[in-house]
Amino acid sequence: MKFNIKNSFINQLPADSKTENSRRQVKEACYSFVSPKKTSNPKLIHISPEVLEILGLTAEDANTEEFLNIFTGNKILDNTKPYAMCYGGHQFGHWAGQLGDGRAINLFEVEHNNTNWKLQLKGAGETPYSRSADGLAVLRSSIREYLCSEAMHYLGIPTTRALSLALTGDQVLRDKLYDGNLEYEKGAIVCRVSQSFLRFGNFEILSARQDFKTLKTLVDYTINTHYAFLGKPSKDVYLKFFNEVANRSLDMVMHWQRVGFVHGVMNTDNMSILGQTIDYGPYGWLEGYEPSWTPNTTDAQHKRYRYGAQVDVVHWNLFQLANALYPLVNEAEGFEAILGYFGEQKIERYKAMMRSKLGLQLKDEKDAILIQELEDCLQLTETDFTIFFRLLADFESEKYAEGFQLISEAFYTPKIITEAIKTRWNLWFLSYAERLKRETISAKARKKQMNSINPKYVLRNYMAQLAIDDANKGDYCLIDELYNLLKQPYAEQPEHEKWFAKRPEWARHKVGCSMLSCSS
Ligand code: AMP
Ligand code: MG
Repeated sequence: MKFNIKNSFINQLPADSKTENSRRQVKEACYSFVSPKKTSNPKLIHISPEVLEILGLTAEDANTEEFLNIFTGNKILDNTKPYAMCYGGHQFGHWAGQLGDGRAINLFEVEHNNTNWKLQLKGAGETPYSRSADGLAVLRSSIREYLCSEAMHYLGIPTTRALSLALTGDQVLRDKLYDGNLEYEKGAIVCRVSQSFLRFGNFEILSARQDFKTLKTLVDYTINTHYAFLGKPSKDVYLKFFNEVANRSLDMVMHWQRVGFVHGVMNTDNMSILGQTIDYGPYGWLEGYEPSWTPNTTDAQHKRYRYGAQVDVVHWNLFQLANALYPLVNEAEGFEAILGYFGEQKIERYKAMMRSKLGLQLKDEKDAILIQELEDCLQLTETDFTIFFRLLADFESEKYAEGFQLISEAFYTPKIITEAIKTRWNLWFLSYAERLKRETISAKARKKQMNSINPKYVLRNYMAQLAIDDANKGDYCLIDELYNLLKQPYAEQPEHEKWFAKRPEWARHKVGCSMLSCSS
């Protein structure tokens, strides 16, 4: 196995001068050197063939003892120096100080096809940033991250990738529901892959500590490495950089809204500087359309990170990033203009996204009303978000009176639907049919366009949970089945039709299916 190894991050950025693995505040540095913990009986459960390929590796490479040892923490390649990054963050609206890679260890960089990839083990043991925790990850949360990050990629959503999922052979103690019931679970490690794992929090911590020298070094590195097309770092380019991060973050969150993905913990330490979806914890997928829904039980009271708030949260998080970058520019106007524009764009982009979900190509002033009415209708009775939009692609304007019947499979409790609800829906279908008449593309072309952005298959929480239950018993077939299913989320895949279904009733209140804590 041959990697084209690079160490640009550690070569260009300042390291923590201490090298012992003890919890501490790390100043004037971007990371600390630390080795992964040895694992007792590692076993690979799944490997992503496509991620292997982007790294220039083959299936034969992955089938070696060396591969197993590297990606479970038991072997450190020559000329590599694993490290954990220092970052801070705003958690649930409050500045939390230093956080950092508490259980993620970056192994090395691989350059292939002119792209530089960072490879990182999640769950590989303690680091200087582990605070009071153990640096480990359990199998259930690792399966969730592994499957979902790849699924997001195939949905066309910017995300970190996952190369491998492995058992460590070690036991990990967890309080799954934060209710005092500790249990041993199987330990696991995911190898994540991205061009950068930098978060808003990497910049915030340096600014909060008024370490503007390191801040400038890190921002310049980020621009030169990931945003070089903006030009050489300068005050003007810092603003352009911020603008680019804002645009990418808006793109990302619009995709989330489009597919019904709820991240669950949108703290600034979980916001990627590349605008990628990062840190898959207590995330979930909308089943019944419900803007106030969050899968994260830790956030059940205030629902700060609910589906309907995600775009605003990105905006809020960008304010924090602007504050962090401000000392490099020392003028607020530029940041304010970008943030103000984001405020306008988030409304426009949302409308455009919903229009595309409805198969509307042209702009119409009254679309906002059509969209609002639809959102209201979707909440009259529990209505599956994914199934609704997929069925809607078959709507025919001439047969608008059949619209209600067409989408009725999306209703969770069809028996209790009143005449009043049906009337509201019929009115909406009538407006939709009228609106479609102004479109110029054929019904067939519209269906194709809608089905290319309204997924048929998403990783519903109960699906991940079924794979987890099997895996805990040593059966990994479902992981592979879901992995393959979710590679083509927009395709019909008739052989997989059973996954085009509403959440089953047994999953409604089951832990892992409707309720998830941050324990992982
Ligand atoms: P999160 O919001 O879950 O992504 O993580 C918040 C912070 O907690 C980050 O600094 C993580 O590295 C850290 N963290 C989460 N789980 C663990 C763990 N088991 N051991 C050490 N640090 C952890
Ligand atoms: Mg995190």
